[in-house]
Amino acid sequence: MELLNFILLIIIALLIFFLLKKEKVLGINTEEKNNNEKIKIIENKEYRGSIYDLLNYIPEGVIVVDKSKKILFSNNSATNWFQIKLNENLSGFLRNPDLLNFIDKAFNGENLSDFEIEIRTQSVSRLNITIYLDKRDLFFDETTCVLFIRDLTEFYKFQQLKSDFVANVSHELRTPLQSIKMGLETFENNSELKNNSEVKNFLPVMISQSERMENLIRDLLSLSKIELQEHIRPTHEIDLIELLEFVIKTYEKIIKKDNISIVLNKTDNFKIIGDRDKLIEIFTNLIDNSIKYSDKNKTITISTKKEGETNIVSVEDQGIGIPKELIHRVTERFFTVDPSKSRSVGGTGLGLAIVKHLVSQHRAEMDINSVKNEGTSISIKFNAL
Ligand code: ADP
Repeated sequence: MELLNFILLIIIALLIFFLLKKEKVLGINTEEKNNNEKIKIIENKEYRGSIYDLLNYIPEGVIVVDKSKKILFSNNSATNWFQIKLNENLSGFLRNPDLLNFIDKAFNGENLSDFEIEIRTQSVSRLNITIYLDKRDLFFDETTCVLFIRDLTEFYKFQQLKSDFVANVSHELRTPLQSIKMGLETFENNSELKNNSEVKNFLPVMISQSERMENLIRDLLSLSKIELQEHIRPTHEIDLIELLEFVIKTYEKIIKKDNISIVLNKTDNFKIIGDRDKLIEIFTNLIDNSIKYSDKNKTITISTKKEGETNIVSVEDQGIGIPKELIHRVTERFFTVDPSKSRSVGGTGLGLAIVKHLVSQHRAEMDINSVKNEGTSISIKFNAL
């Protein structure tokens, strides 16, 4: 019994010893922790102060908002552009539903790419905005949304001048070209003239060159129009299957002539928000290319499939293909893998550049896969409706 009491006594003594030790350790830790916190707050203040100073010197606008969109910080550029007042709501200065929606999405953890919006103020009208969700409390002691804003107004003014110039030149060239073409057609319809040996040599070349010029003018006009509208989001509900069937129908004659088959693999409920005419232009360009760069008797397959939130359309051919190292260049203006081949089939080198702009206007993505001498597959990924 005495031994038991002795053991109990030792256990109690050990417990008291450890408790005291723990208290001491905890005491030191709390003190250290408090000191560290204080240092962190001072460091944060200093470090944030320098960040804010720095941000006031950059030409881009920077605005920091909290979850309720109250403005916590705005650098000099943003303050001047939008006459911003701190602690007021962002919606009072940048009244754009898309932007406010994007901020909500950022706070809800969605990954966002940068986007462009049009805002009408005296000094700025076109902006590119990148949204960064500051979860690490770099700017404030809470999660905030940081807007990095680039003023693209001047850039778009320049772009507009360039597009207007191209559109005017193309338009002015159209009328004289029509007269030349009419003259050539008259020659062609006059059997006496047509059989003249000199005319016989030159007439086909002149006709094909005037057709090429007509194609170039058409594509240049189209490209300059598209460039100016690229930021305008399409708004119509489009049934892509119906649209693809419509486009395929326009190829009936060519298909018969060249014995080409166009196969459409359909998917149910395949809808997107888009612009009908522009979508027709996208698929017409892709199918045109598949026909131009394939031999007769080949099959073009248009597949449609759903992948999560995206609707994907792929136009696949069994044509000459594109060398791997040149695939990334085919959407450049006037780039052709083989200029003489492209010219001989009526190409301008502008088709895929047009497609690229139209795809971007639809906030879609284009993916090109090709194997030389085997074929090409171009897929467009749209956001599903
Ligand atoms: P083009 O009017 O010359 O066809 P595009 O801009 O439509 O111009 O295409 C650029 C180039 O990419 C073409 O000249 C051609 O070399 C290549 N290309 C485009 N689509 C295909 C395809 N389906 N198969 C093979 N080559 C292609």
